[in-house]
Amino acid sequence: MSEPADIVIVGAGIMGLSIAHQISRRHDSSIVLLDKALNVGEGSTGASCAILRQRYTHPESVTVARDGLKAHRNWSAYTGLAEPRAEFHHTGVLWMMGEDRPGLTPVYEMLTGLGVGVEIIDGAAVKQRFPALSTCNTPFDLTGEVEHVCDQHDAFLFETESGFIDPVSTCQDLLQAVRGKGVDVRFSAEVTAIRTSGGAVTGVDLGDGSVIDAPVVVNASGPWASRLAATAGFDYAPWTIHPIRAQVIYREWPRDEVPGPLPIVGDAAGGIYFRPEASGQQILVGSILEADEQEVVADPDVFNGNIDAGYRDLKIHALHHRIPSLPYRGKIEGIAGMYTMNVEDVHSVLGKTELDGFIVANGFSGHGFKESPAVGSMIARLLTGVEPDEWDTDAPIEFFSIDREPIQVAQKAVLA
Ligand SMILES: Cc1cc2nc3c(=O)[nH]c(=O)nc-3n(C[C@H](O)[C@H](O)[C@H](O)COP(=O)(O)OP(=O)(O)OC[C@H]3O[C@@H](n4cnc5c(N)ncnc54)[C@H](O)[C@@H]3O)c2cc1C
Repeated sequence: MSEPADIVIVGAGIMGLSIAHQISRRHDSSIVLLDKALNVGEGSTGASCAILRQRYTHPESVTVARDGLKAHRNWSAYTGLAEPRAEFHHTGVLWMMGEDRPGLTPVYEMLTGLGVGVEIIDGAAVKQRFPALSTCNTPFDLTGEVEHVCDQHDAFLFETESGFIDPVSTCQDLLQAVRGKGVDVRFSAEVTAIRTSGGAVTGVDLGDGSVIDAPVVVNASGPWASRLAATAGFDYAPWTIHPIRAQVIYREWPRDEVPGPLPIVGDAAGGIYFRPEASGQQILVGSILEADEQEVVADPDVFNGNIDAGYRDLKIHALHHRIPSLPYRGKIEGIAGMYTMNVEDVHSVLGKTELDGFIVANGFSGHGFKESPAVGSMIARLLTGVEPDEWDTDAPIEFFSIDREPIQVAQKAVLA
């Protein structure tokens, strides 16, 4: 049994949903969106911290993050839903990276030149806005051999408009939006193979034995990307696109005992990032260290979804250093999810490939959530040719092309 479609999208995580949304809101292609899971958010997206920050090394990445933030900040207008489930939480992002003012000035100028709201603030301003935060930027020794003496650092970058959103309710909203536009979304629908003929895709085989014929197949299967592509005989080489395990701690946050609000923080002294969790009375803590992004997951269907005790202890230690008033009690939980790393330059590969009709949106390496509206925009414009509007990005998809040279990055980790 086979049925036709214009576009098949494999994966209903934040990428597949965003691509479907950006196509369906501008064009009446027949789209089938397939996911092998029972519902949205069962891949990387469900584990995401969904931090929407804009600081990146390259202007193109900043642009993608900026335009993603705009969609998330205006979620009802962007999705067309009168009462969306997801709510943007405006906290700002404070970069406590041990940089001085001369070092921050070019970053400030690049970001403001791209329309990103950003300030360089001193330690007194940090204390005034976020009294719970220590302004120390001395990395602490964990061998027990060097006594840590806190310094008082005096230059920090603050993103004024950034924040976070709930990843799963964001997906649920997009699911509603795309179904409202006629996208055929199916769960428990595993693509077992991408069909090809004469150097072009022709459709997909599903686990139930059915076939969908389509001239375009979009690979939005996250950590399963390389495995799925291989069914079409497609190899990402010279890129290495594979899943790695990424852990996040959920630390109880007694708001009444910690003075003032908390922003999202990037903390070089402790090697962590963290953010408040609005509904859960928790602080989410993750790593910014390249060393913590090395555990390759051999099989994304079977991996350790718990946190390691050693990782937990180090990161909680770092959190207490940054928030000295945080009580030494309270529940600590955590999960591990998967980043889909592009090992060569930790940026995604987007767009057309040498296999005609095979479109990739993979390798987001720990920053895909914030980029998803703009990624959807770039793919949708590529496939439909429809002129951009206020919810599109002007970032060039060529920057992320699979045919590019590796992008130069300061460190091959989530901060990129
Ligand atoms: C712990 C953690 C924290 C993160 N924090 C942030 C953050 O703060 N900010 C940020 O911007 N990004 C963050 N990220 C990264 C971001 O979450 C990911 O880049 C993004 O969610 C990737 O989405 P995706 O749709 O590509 O993949 P996924 O969400 O994994 O979706 C892929 C989908 O494809 C489906 N699938 C796979 N194979 C098949 C098949 N053969 N047939 C049918 N369906 C299939 C899967 O079931 C899955 O639902 C984080 C990620 C993790 C793991």
